[in-house]
Amino acid sequence: MPGTSLAVLGHPIKHSISPAMQNAALAELARTDAQYADWHYHRFEIHPDDLPHALTLLHAKKFRGVNLTVPHKIIAFDRVAAIDPAARPVGAVNTLLWTPAGWHGFNTDGYGMATAIRESLGRDLSASPILLLGAGGAARGAGVECLQRGCPALWIANRTRETLDQLLAVLKPVQGSIPLHGVTLESLGANATGLPAGLLVINATSAGLRDTDPLPIDLSLLSRPAAVFDMIYNPPQTRLLQAAAGLGLPNAHGLGMLIHQGARALEIWTGVPAARTAPAMSSAAHAAMGLSEA
Ligand code: NAP
Repeated sequence: MPGTSLAVLGHPIKHSISPAMQNAALAELARTDAQYADWHYHRFEIHPDDLPHALTLLHAKKFRGVNLTVPHKIIAFDRVAAIDPAARPVGAVNTLLWTPAGWHGFNTDGYGMATAIRESLGRDLSASPILLLGAGGAARGAGVECLQRGCPALWIANRTRETLDQLLAVLKPVQGSIPLHGVTLESLGANATGLPAGLLVINATSAGLRDTDPLPIDLSLLSRPAAVFDMIYNPPQTRLLQAAAGLGLPNAHGLGMLIHQGARALEIWTGVPAARTAPAMSSAAHAAMGLSEA
């Protein structure tokens, strides 16, 4: 392939809007810097069994960078030559940078989430007590980010006790002196009134992807003020966000997180600050989703 190549690998990948976002940002960069005119971001459907071979091949072909999406983020973690220290406790990588020694792995999801929350809700993770819903891969990244940014306190609520306990064990080394509590979603109802005012609720469960999914939490039980960030962006208006809006709580969907993790990945590959490419990515992402930009 001529020029400089980037790619996203996933299974499935066909609905990914990352190529639209990244190629829009590269086109924007090329307007003022000709070197980006022959950069291109591709998408490849890769079965998990084929990931090691694909990574070896793309490295041999000198792809400048790779993004990884479901289910490759965890598999790739053990397949890279070096890991960014901030990504180590997450146990997953979503961005790889070509180096002569092999792939250098990063995780830009936490940056994406923190930046989107600041932009859409005006909240800093370092200043908000947080209720994180979920204990899967996305919750792990979110929990590490909240603790690394020094949130005042972190509650985690999950449907299944076992996965909740696994996440709490993973977060312990990053916890420092930050109060960290775990509850099941079932028992959250009885405890919700004890949570502090000013809470930032982050939904990292997949409840909300379908209209028929149960609400992970009854937001009316929370002390005010509170704000809600849902990592889900398709659909953009989950039942949780509708409930938040109905209660007058500030709320935002997860498209901003996708945009900012992408801008940070492009910064790793190009050195161009993420803030410079995020607007082009945002326009492309909103257009791809059929949404208007606020
Ligand atoms: P995952 O590893 O499969 O974890 C799923 C989580 O959702 C688990 O905690 C699971 O609880 C919980 N859950 C599933 N169905 C539920 C239900 N009906 N009621 C309550 N809890 C339920 O998935 P993931 O990779 O962490 O992704 C989670 C969500 O984040 C997805 O919707 C994904 O689209 C979104 N996400 C968005 C971005 C972005 O850029 N905006 C990035 C990453 C992920 P159990 O432990 O009880 O099964």
